[in-house]
Amino acid sequence: MIKLRNIHKTYDNGTPLHVLKGLDLDVGKGEMIAIMGQSGSGKSTLLNILGILDNYDEGSYMLDGKLIKNLTENEAAMLRNEKMGFIFQSFNLISYKNAVENVALPLYYRGVSRRQRNNMAMELLDKLGLADWAGHKPNEMSGGQKQRVAIARALITSPLLILADEPTGALDSVTSQEVMDLLKDVNKNMGITIVCVTHERSIAEQTGRVVHIKDGLVDEGAY
Ligand code: ADP
Ligand code: MG
Repeated sequence: MIKLRNIHKTYDNGTPLHVLKGLDLDVGKGEMIAIMGQSGSGKSTLLNILGILDNYDEGSYMLDGKLIKNLTENEAAMLRNEKMGFIFQSFNLISYKNAVENVALPLYYRGVSRRQRNNMAMELLDKLGLADWAGHKPNEMSGGQKQRVAIARALITSPLLILADEPTGALDSVTSQEVMDLLKDVNKNMGITIVCVTHERSIAEQTGRVVHIKDGLVDEGAY
């Protein structure tokens, strides 16, 4: 599903910062992996490359058999909408939209009618036990509820891949576990590939495989 070879990424805002230094990574279809590493080690940088939210400088990224390189913003946006769902630590829900509207939004970009996208969003919220929150805006929900709405938004397009950047980072341990249980369920029962960045070992260990990043490379010796 994902094949990264010799990926390099340097940020250059005055002083160049070489963050990824020839990183290789393979993720199979239906796998759920965790990416761990110290703060500043390049976890988000890697996830942004996987999500085609940022470019890399050198190497190759194959996603679902397609080379992801030098795409236009439009091509990248289409691939993201077609193949991926995103989950962030800070939920990134739209504050003036209610849960149904937030979940339905990716379908708007696919040209699905309002009525149909709201029906689909409602059905998914119901399936995730969030039907009672459908009409509520983010500021009326708990962190765990917001993250489950964000997961619904990631799922609404039936993606191949979910990319999660510290999805439990803003949640207490009980709520974190609920979110992890939902992600594991999505992986197992829907077969969706999941790449989850976390700095918590207890979260990482619940996935099928833990990949450590150190000094810009995958640290094969880490456990
Ligand atoms: P992590 O998610 O592992 O904490 P990041 O991938 O966010 O690490 O960042 C890796 C390094 O790159 C850090 O030193 C960070 O300050 C730097 N960095 C991240 N994004 C940018 C950017 N857009 N411009 C310049 N430096 C950046
Ligand atoms: Mg990060």
